[in-house]
Parts: sequence; C-alpha cells; structure tokens
Amino acid sequence: MEHIVIIGNGIAGVTAARHIRKLSNKKITIISAESDYFFSRTALMYVYMGHMKFEHTQPYENWFWKKNNIDLINGFVTQVNTTEKEVILKHNGSISYDKLIIATGSKPNKFGWPGQDLEGVQGLYSKQDLELLEQNAPNNKVCKRAVIVGGGLIGIELAEMLRTRNIPVTFLVRESSFWNGVLPSGESQMINEHILEHHIDLRLGASLKEIVPDEKGKVKSVIVAETGEEITCTVVGLTAGVTPNIDFLKDSGIELGKGVKVNRFLETNIKDIYAIGDCAEQHEAIGNRRPVEAVWYTGRMMGETVAQTICGNRTEYKPGHWFNSAKFLDIEYQTYGWVFSERIKGEDEIHFHWRHPKEKLCITIAFDKGSKTFLGINTFGIRMRHEVFDRWLNDKKDIDFVMAHLADANFDPEFYRRHESEIVAKFNSDFGKNIVPKKKSLKRIFQTS
Ligand SMILES: Cc1cc2nc3c(=O)[nH]c(=O)nc-3n(C[C@H](O)[C@H](O)[C@H](O)COP(=O)(O)OP(=O)(O)OC[C@H]3O[C@@H](n4cnc5c(N)ncnc54)[C@H](O)[C@@H]3O)c2cc1C
Repeated sequence: MEHIVIIGNGIAGVTAARHIRKLSNKKITIISAESDYFFSRTALMYVYMGHMKFEHTQPYENWFWKKNNIDLINGFVTQVNTTEKEVILKHNGSISYDKLIIATGSKPNKFGWPGQDLEGVQGLYSKQDLELLEQNAPNNKVCKRAVIVGGGLIGIELAEMLRTRNIPVTFLVRESSFWNGVLPSGESQMINEHILEHHIDLRLGASLKEIVPDEKGKVKSVIVAETGEEITCTVVGLTAGVTPNIDFLKDSGIELGKGVKVNRFLETNIKDIYAIGDCAEQHEAIGNRRPVEAVWYTGRMMGETVAQTICGNRTEYKPGHWFNSAKFLDIEYQTYGWVFSERIKGEDEIHFHWRHPKEKLCITIAFDKGSKTFLGINTFGIRMRHEVFDRWLNDKKDIDFVMAHLADANFDPEFYRRHESEIVAKFNSDFGKNIVPKKKSLKRIFQTS
C-alpha cells in the first residue's frame, strides 16, 4: 500500500491527511515535533488569556486519528534522503515514504540583534512559546514590563495577551504608523489610537538596536535604535514577522528559496515530494499574492489541493480571490480582494474610506480609476459576507453597484440599520455621486435570519 508521509501537523498537514483519507485508503503518517495532536495556532492567545484551555484548541478528539487510520509520530525530522525515499528522525530512526508532503510552517524572524538569545527573549509561534510565556510573564510581579518588537498581527496579539494580566507593555513599531505597509492610512491611524487607548506604550518609528543582559544573563533592558533610549524590561517579544521553517532541508537536494520551491501543483523539483502551507514558496506569485503566504486559509486550501493530486486527480492550486480575517485587540478585521496601503498601491487604485465619528468602525473600498471596477474591501468592526464579495469580484461589478447593494453583503443587520446611509452619503459627497442604497434583497434576508 502506498505510504504518504507528512511532516508537520499544522492546518496544512492535517487538512492534506484528512482529505487523502476521504479519497483513499493509503497509509498515512504525520510526523510533528511540536504537539501530539493538531491544535489551532490562531487560538493560542486565548489560552494565555484564560478564555480556553489548551485542549479546547484541538478541533478533533484524540481518538479521531486512530479511527481514521492516520498514524501520528511525535518526532523531529532532521533530514530527508530523497534517493532512498526516507525521512530521518532525531531519536527514532527513519521512515520510508512513497510520497512526502512537507508542511513544516514558519519560525519567528530573528535579525541577529545583540542579545536576541538571552533568557526572557522569545517569539510567539509554538505551543512551547506559549509555555515559555507562562514562565516569563505569569503576572506583573515577575514581569515588570515587556517590550514587543515588530508591529504586525502577532505583535498586537502578544500585547493584548500581556495586558490581560496587567503587564506594562512597550510596543516598538519600526514604521511611522501601525502595519502601514499593509493597511491604508485611515485604518492604520485608527489602530494606532486603539492601541494607545488600551494603555499600550506604542512607539512608532522605533526599532530595536540591542537587548541588554543583567549580571545573570537575563534580559535587563532594550536600546531603541533611533533615539538610543534604554527601556527597562524583563521580557522581550520578537514578533517581526516569520520565515519558512526549512533549515533541516538544506542538504536534501530539494530546491529552496525563502521557502520550499513549488509549482502550481505544489510539487517540488523532486518527484513525489510536495510542499504546502507557510513553508511553500511559489516559483512565481499567483496574481497579487506573495510567493510565500503565511496565513491559515492558504494552508487549508493547499492541503485540500495536494490531497487531490496525491489521490490521482492532479489539481492546480487556484486560491481564488484573496481574503483574510484577524483581530486588532477587540476590533474584527476582514479583507476581501485587494486594498493596498498607500505605500504600495498604484495610482489607478482609488480608495473610498468611511470611519464612524465615535466608534472604532471603518471601511475602505478600493476601485479602479478608469473602469471603476470594484477591487476589494477592508472592514473594521463590521462583519461582511465573504461569498457576496467573491461574487462581485468574479462579476467585476463597478463601485456604484457595490455602494448601492452593500446591504446584501451585510452580515449584521444592526450595522446597516445604523450606518448604511452615512456610508453612502459620504461616498456621494467624496465622488460627486447620487447613489441611493438599495434595501437588502429578500433572498439575503432569509439567508441571514
Ligand atoms: C499567534 C499567531 C496568530 C495567528 N493568527 C492568524 C490569523 O488571525 N489569521 C491567519 O490567517 N493566520 C494567522 N496566523 C498564521 C497561521 O497560524 C499560520 O499561517 C498557519 O498555522 C500555518 O500552518 P502550517 O500548517 O503551514 O504550519 P504550522 O502550523 O507552523 O505547522 C507546522 C508544524 O510542523 C512542525 N515541524 C516543523 N519542522 C519540523 C520538523 N523538521 N520535524 C517535525 N516537525 C516539524 C512544527 O513544529 C509545526 O507543528 C497566526 C500565527 C500565529 C503564530
């Protein structure tokens, strides 16, 4: 029987395993060094914050894997021997494969800062990082102040986590406004304000020069590069992005770039070896997407796709329109299609921005200057319907249609009852239009209720 070996039990690896099992009775083995069972990485923060226990982050019961005849091995793969078709484990010998899926995810970036390996310095990625955070920052008596380095999604999550235990947090963000390489300025500015209102000491335009040890070799302080200021702290969180976790493949003959290089079928340069999820890098980016996409949904879609190929239905990875969601403290963020920040958007991408005068709610809609085609939407504090935007993007609807029919994308009827007219009025005023918002279609009302 053909043996499929999967390295990594994250969303990409387990999705591949589940779908291969649905489609075949092949022998499946998943190897992972992090945890016995799959858990939701995006839920790790809620364990520290006391909203759930670690067991609650596991979407499947422990018996699920045996019942579905999926073997789990807790071990670290140190090498892949592509000639013998085997993976070498650190402690427990080797395992032969007929087909190998590499799904080893990411690791936090470290840029060679002096002091980056001191006690008290850590990333936030793995279950072990969470356990370390419990040791380093159990409360504000042990952790008098934490400094977080790197203003992205994981950095703000770490800040939120520490604040729930009343630990003072300084947040060093190299950019002049939070995540402004991704978010348009109105949104980025709103999140700056929100961070400050949550009593997080946000320092914009501030990057790390070095981490200073005390006499016992623990973190004592950090030095800010731009000002030379020394900030006393006991914990440093390094959250300046992630990189594919592929060091163990260096001498394997598998083509590597930033990640494991794959074609559109998620195949590597070596026959019968595939890569999926955060660790995979497309030879050529798909549309506006990045060659490496370290997001949850990508891992899931790639897992489903590779399962088809492995089970005889060779399938191209076609991710469709970009979408993602996250949270900035208590503000929910959704994005569909492309809304680029001012730092990277072209002149033909026009933005319409609306922000509520008092509450932390806003939307930005992007459209093409010439054709007026709808390009994408970001929403903050407002839930919208994925499938509606997907359809409008497919149908290349124009901005006037989108504004008139926004109610159909509305997930939360309450929101539109209060704000729809203001949004459309602002659009009419910004662009000299006279659009009258349509009521939610009956079909949509039934779907919502
Ligand atoms: C705190 C946090 C919050 C996030 N929030 C969001 C979010 O809101 N939205 C979003 O889209 N994404 C989010 N992400 C990113 C998302 O979690 C990742 O994109 C996703 O988990 C990647 O899945 P994966 O299966 O590719 O890899 P991973 O989940 O990293 O799994 C890979 C597994 O392989 C194991 N492994 C690696 N090398 C070896 C080896 N040599 N031998 C054995 N095992 C190995 C690793 O230990 C790990 O268990 C977040 C990430 C973090 C850390």
